[in-house]
Amino acid sequence: MPAVFEACRRCPECNRGQWNLCRNAYSRWSTPADQAPHFFGTFGTHWGLNGNQYVYKVPDNVSSKAVSAANCALSQMVAAVDAGDVRKGDKVVMLGAGGLGLCGATLAAEAGAEVFAAEMAPSRLEKAKTFGAHHGVDLTQAEDGRERVEMLREATGGGADVLIDLTGVPGAFSEGVRSVRPGGRFVSVGNVSPNKFTDFDPGLFTRSGVSMHAVIRYPHYFLSRSIRFLEETPHYPWEDMVDTDYAFTDVRAGIQAAEDKTVTRAGIVIGTED
Ligand SMILES: [Zn+2]
Repeated sequence: MPAVFEACRRCPECNRGQWNLCRNAYSRWSTPADQAPHFFGTFGTHWGLNGNQYVYKVPDNVSSKAVSAANCALSQMVAAVDAGDVRKGDKVVMLGAGGLGLCGATLAAEAGAEVFAAEMAPSRLEKAKTFGAHHGVDLTQAEDGRERVEMLREATGGGADVLIDLTGVPGAFSEGVRSVRPGGRFVSVGNVSPNKFTDFDPGLFTRSGVSMHAVIRYPHYFLSRSIRFLEETPHYPWEDMVDTDYAFTDVRAGIQAAEDKTVTRAGIVIGTED
């Protein structure tokens, strides 16, 4: 299995060992398919790799369907749980229980943490419990952001040791930081789209002593860690991470279902179309 982006090993970030920040990570993305060698992107029957991607062997006892979690959800969450320095006994909140949240819950649980999955789509919470979450927090029970923070602080007995924001909702950034205990760790993963803004109280943040970490992509070798993790944790229902399969010809329906959050993770299975 290859990493989905590149590490050029030549740019300043690569030379500092921060491969996940390679400034050439997406050198071939959005290249039109009529240019040779044609297979640059996803949603295709073939995919052309180059020497700046890293390829790891999948063990025989890890199925193709299970290993689809590794790229990039599980690998991304290996990086996020590392950044949050999750330790045994920590109270860890996964803010968002889609594919990333489920992967994060397993990693935190295996590290010995007490895991809370928090969601605005409460139908996802039961599934999160099969992926390592010990508690589900239904944030639809709160009226507003202030109440959501109160709910999370109460559930975790005064604030999370670590909160990993996977929502992609700018407002959740501020709420997430305020839901962490003084001196705890906040990890931002979900908010990746630029030019979206939110109110943030820097004074409250400074006084809280919370440390913030941003995690984008993952160092390539984390893919090998996540494949090994899949091999070592067959007690999680990895094949159920993708809850609905779509034929290649139904790509649009799969994307729509993911966007509408009517599925946790949509799978596109090539070779099943009519
Ligand atoms: Zn680079």
